[in-house]
Amino acid sequence: MTKSSSAAPRHAPNEFFASEHGELLINGLPVSRVAAMAGRTPFYAYDRSVIERRVQTLRRLLPPGVQLHYAMKANPMPALVGLMAQRVDGLDVASGGELRVALDAGMAPARISFAGPGKREGELRQALAAGVLINVESAREVECLAQLSDETGWKARVAVRVNPDFELRSAGMRMGGGPKQFGVDAEQVPALLRRIGVLGLAFEGFHIYAGSQNLNADALIDMQRRSFELALRLGDDAPGPLKVLNLGGGFGIPYFPGERALALEPVCEALAVIADEARLRAPGAELVLELGRYLVGEAGVYVCRVTDCKMSRGQAFVVVDGGMHQHLAASGNFGQVIRRNYPLALANRMDQPASGPASVVGPLCTPLDLLADKTDLPDAVPGDLVAVFQSGAYGFSASPLGFLGHPEPVQLLV
Ligand SMILES: *Cc1c(COP(=O)(O)O)cnc(C)c1O
Repeated sequence: MTKSSSAAPRHAPNEFFASEHGELLINGLPVSRVAAMAGRTPFYAYDRSVIERRVQTLRRLLPPGVQLHYAMKANPMPALVGLMAQRVDGLDVASGGELRVALDAGMAPARISFAGPGKREGELRQALAAGVLINVESAREVECLAQLSDETGWKARVAVRVNPDFELRSAGMRMGGGPKQFGVDAEQVPALLRRIGVLGLAFEGFHIYAGSQNLNADALIDMQRRSFELALRLGDDAPGPLKVLNLGGGFGIPYFPGERALALEPVCEALAVIADEARLRAPGAELVLELGRYLVGEAGVYVCRVTDCKMSRGQAFVVVDGGMHQHLAASGNFGQVIRRNYPLALANRMDQPASGPASVVGPLCTPLDLLADKTDLPDAVPGDLVAVFQSGAYGFSASPLGFLGHPEPVQLLV
């Protein structure tokens, strides 16, 4: 039986990846060719067309006036950030290093914001010199900025990152509500706002980011509504008008069987209602969404080569040249409570039927180095290519690349 050559591959988790003559296509190029371009395996390939389509979809659905920012820590590869800088309204950075990449990418400093707990004095100085918006997360950061500003004469633009008095329901990773190291507790914000006023820093608004990897539209809508109300309430004590209200993001992508893509339409419709209200209740305030994973996660594949195929007491093992040191999340060791397989395929045998379950393991001397636990795959031989999908976010840069001293994977923007 022949399959339509452009049909979505059997194991592809999203509509973005097709195959032809049995080969996975990455932005139209067969995976073996991309591997040759990379020069070696393993490699991460990020498909520009997938990123562009995702941005276009968001642009079409987001209400006018809502700014779309890219949270760089999801994937800080400079070439990818350069592409993003031309497509989104702003970049959010989480370190002095990311700030340099954002500036290199040509993003206007006015459209860069810097969040993160424990910003070092040197990083605050960098941000001040560049003139970016600093999302302050403690009283210490405010005092430090005032001092640096006095010393240098550079104006400190600040927004207060608020640890809200509510939690995001059903987020994969909660980063707000209850005791948290992120932001300033909502109840401490009024006092900090008075201090910002006394010190004469340029207050611009609030930043509320409650969590990551949320696939539940209702939970996101609820979180955005509550963040909006909280910001308006806190705004009463602010030393100036609200110019920016960063509502965070946390839009998730499906990784595992049974997970469904986020329903974007209702989230955007609810945002449109908030945007309308904001025009009346906080005139002049710009709403911002900062998305990381949702913009790039589905665009990336991690490709490694099969080095060995073994049977151990009846169980098949496919050994590849990549693993947890290069893709910690796919190995289940980055935030997952229960280890589940990322979507994965034999990328040069997309048209072949599965022959049975095999575990895909890496070269490290630890049983944690597992890319797939007993997954259905066609028969593999050394030299074949294994592709792990949904690998565009929190892959390369969120992995312990030095563990066991293997060379780093290549990264390509295709
Ligand atoms: C990590 C982070 C993001 C991006 O989160 P995603 O789930 O990748 O969209 C956005 N804002 C802040 C403050 C973050 O720390």
